[in-house]
Amino acid sequence: MEPLFVTDKIRNILPTIEAFVKRELFPLETTENLTRNFSEIEPELLKKRALVKEAGLWGLHLSEKEGGLGLSLCEFGQISEVLASSPFGHFVFNTQAPDIGNTELLHKYASEDLKEKYLKPLMNGEIRSCFSMTEPDFAGSNPVRMGTTAIKDGDDYIIEGHKWFTSSADGAAFAIVMAVTNPEAEPHKRASQILVPLDTPGYEMVRNIPIMGHTGDSWASHAEVKYHQVRVPRSHLIGEEGAGFKLAQERLGPGRIHHCMRFIGIAERSFDLMCRYAASRALDENKYLGDMQFIQGFIAESRVEIDAARLMVLRTARNIDETGASQARDQISGIKFFTANMMLRVIDRAIQTHGALGITNDILLSYWYAHERASRIYDGADEVHKSALARSILKKYKTS
Ligand SMILES: Cc1cc2nc3c(=O)[nH]c(=O)nc-3n(C[C@H](O)[C@H](O)[C@H](O)COP(=O)(O)OP(=O)(O)OC[C@H]3O[C@@H](n4cnc5c(N)ncnc54)[C@H](O)[C@@H]3O)c2cc1C
Repeated sequence: MEPLFVTDKIRNILPTIEAFVKRELFPLETTENLTRNFSEIEPELLKKRALVKEAGLWGLHLSEKEGGLGLSLCEFGQISEVLASSPFGHFVFNTQAPDIGNTELLHKYASEDLKEKYLKPLMNGEIRSCFSMTEPDFAGSNPVRMGTTAIKDGDDYIIEGHKWFTSSADGAAFAIVMAVTNPEAEPHKRASQILVPLDTPGYEMVRNIPIMGHTGDSWASHAEVKYHQVRVPRSHLIGEEGAGFKLAQERLGPGRIHHCMRFIGIAERSFDLMCRYAASRALDENKYLGDMQFIQGFIAESRVEIDAARLMVLRTARNIDETGASQARDQISGIKFFTANMMLRVIDRAIQTHGALGITNDILLSYWYAHERASRIYDGADEVHKSALARSILKKYKTS
């Protein structure tokens, strides 16, 4: 892959990462691996993690001080695209959500004690984590309405609440829980983020929620969880009390670049599969699928849509690098819905091109079709981003 924004760091490491993903991870995309539970393939992936460490490619998202490469968001985004060409890429490089977001958050806002106990092993890939905000009884699109509370009791908080879609809670060592600590404050200052070790009494993992016919487990799962009078020290507060939404917003800027570049990586790989098949599937002795104009339309439209999305996302990443996430808020909303929809259209066209083969688990496309439909819902549903963007645009047209 030719990177769009070339820097010395990108020039040095991108080809190595691309070669690693193709050599070590593409062979793992067997029908068996694409249909089995994550825990069954995890031992193999942990061996690959050891190879990543040996190759000096561990901690791509970390600062130089933390032993990483100190990449800008724009640089990391381009690597994220390459990692996403395999469904196992981000996990093997320990750059998977939600751990990558939690790493950034703890790095910036946790106490030295929490960093030592939780951030270090998280960065080393010894433990996993999750982020517990959404609740079944309240619309996640308006998270200021929330039922989970954290009430002060001496030096502790006592947390009570019911969450769901706490992704990767299964097997995680801790959750960062969003809970109301200041109910009298204005809506955006009511909640805080608190680190909860998941072996604390009162924590209940209710179930992994079945999604599109598959329940999943370990990192590849979405849990319903309950906090029954869970007691944690007040020193487990991340940042300041009442700053929960501010921290969530901060996490979302870079987080959306990570997601969008992952979507582009998936779209690019789906595109490659579509083109290979179009060029090789014969309709008769002289005619291939790729000779058909409908299929040519799929290919041409997909090519320009992926390219357009990549330009938009990397422009946004560069703006975040230069001026911060809040200045780039409109662009961040725009790339989220544009890129998710682009990816789903490209996967769909690639499936259509493959005919019946496209919906089997013999190739990657149906795996992504099922797993990535959620991209239009999490991290802000399409409609929420579109409304936010349109409102911001219209503000400039207001005459009174
Ligand atoms: C795969 C997956 C993983 C997730 N992982 C996590 C996680 O790790 N941690 C976590 O806390 N949460 C997680 N979530 C939850 C996610 O953040 C919420 O699903 C999301 O915020 C939407 O909330 P909701 O599902 O309650 O939908 P609702 O808020 O009930 O909205 C339902 C639908 O209504 C429409 N809608 C909502 N608001 C508006 C509006 N203003 N204008 C027009 N239409 C609107 C949209 O179409 C939306 O899809 C995950 C979700 C999924 C699907």
